[in-house]
Amino acid sequence: MWRVLNSENILVTVLSKARSVLKKYPLCDHCLGRLFARLGVGLGNDTRGFSIKTMLQLVIHHEKSTSTDQNEIRELAVNAGEPFITMYRIISGETVCRKPCYICNNKLSREYFQSIAEKAYRILKDWSIERFLVGVTLPREIRLRELEVLQITGFEWAESIKNEVKREVGKIIRDKYGLIPDFDNPEAVVIIDFDKDNLDIQPSPIYIEGVYWKKARMISQTDWINNNVSKCPLSLESFLNENLREVFGSEKIFIHASGREDVDVRMIGSGRPVVIEAYRPSKRRFDLNDINNRLNTDIVEFKLTSIVKRSRVVYLKTTSGSRRKTYKALIYSSKELSNNDMVKLEEFYKTNNVVKQWTPTRVLYRRRDTLRIRKVFEVKTKLLSSNVFEAIIKCDGGLYVKELIHGDNGRTQPSFSEIIGAVLIPLELDVISVE
Ligand SMILES: [Zn+2]
Repeated sequence: MWRVLNSENILVTVLSKARSVLKKYPLCDHCLGRLFARLGVGLGNDTRGFSIKTMLQLVIHHEKSTSTDQNEIRELAVNAGEPFITMYRIISGETVCRKPCYICNNKLSREYFQSIAEKAYRILKDWSIERFLVGVTLPREIRLRELEVLQITGFEWAESIKNEVKREVGKIIRDKYGLIPDFDNPEAVVIIDFDKDNLDIQPSPIYIEGVYWKKARMISQTDWINNNVSKCPLSLESFLNENLREVFGSEKIFIHASGREDVDVRMIGSGRPVVIEAYRPSKRRFDLNDINNRLNTDIVEFKLTSIVKRSRVVYLKTTSGSRRKTYKALIYSSKELSNNDMVKLEEFYKTNNVVKQWTPTRVLYRRRDTLRIRKVFEVKTKLLSSNVFEAIIKCDGGLYVKELIHGDNGRTQPSFSEIIGAVLIPLELDVISVE
């Protein structure tokens, strides 16, 4: 609760709190001023702190005319420093030294902020950062000492030491070096380790959305490594890393796609929605056309269109199961087929579109055996020879299409195999659209 005080009362309250706290704890101008940071605007805490000490000196000097107690003045000289050191010297002839600040150990100063800001700026520049944020890690003891002092003055007007360091350093980086503080979407956060004076940078990843096409088979989406052996010669992820790491000066490029096709399935037609992530990039200015040119080959192609926020990755992942997919399959049949078989297959899914699938045998070694229910919306067929036909299958995302065709020994029901009454083998499978 904010207490409503008139101006005179505020002054009395501030000075009496400052007097109590300085009798107990040595505090530098910054750490005293910070206890009253919400009073006044456009002031550094050092100005605020020194002003309060000065006002307090006026009050105590006035009181001195009615009291001979010099002990309190000596205490204040030791704990608050100036202007009490001078006052005490004039009164007593003795010069005392100020004790180090109980909270910051005299670390806080304009020079400290200046030197940290300069170091931070150099790092931000190396990483090509224009929009930044400052973070601070603080040893627990400092935080506890700060809380201990606040027990005397209360939290009503205070700000934290973390806040002061972030604000002061951020202001210098903005005003002296021209970079832009950005609280919502910074290109990097520069983290100050208050204890060790180390600086670390956490550059925000760059996310770019688009679509990809896989024009050849035997390409996995991410690196597929089993017992240190790559199971697939090419992955989209390694393709991206080879072509884009230097563009972004990035440690790694990640791929986040809306679902995935099997290694031996092509992705053609309208392409699959994807977001690529440049992790810890040191270069942030780039040309999308140049990137798309690098990613356009005979076997793999990406078309990246816009820079997006991380939330798009979450959106792509969470909606992939609900996106309808269209596949083209080339299927071999053990028995000779007639046009009647084709009609039967197409007609079947007009009235029965629910498919129940237990986890396919081929992935059982790495996935739990669960029942999955998906829909087939449409099947169109074309008989190519007596034993081979093509099917265009529109279905829910997440439906196992190979199993829909061959039935997986009854683990997928109904299946093309069951409907036609033949052993069916999917020869080739392509994704032709992802909605
Ligand atoms: Zn201090």
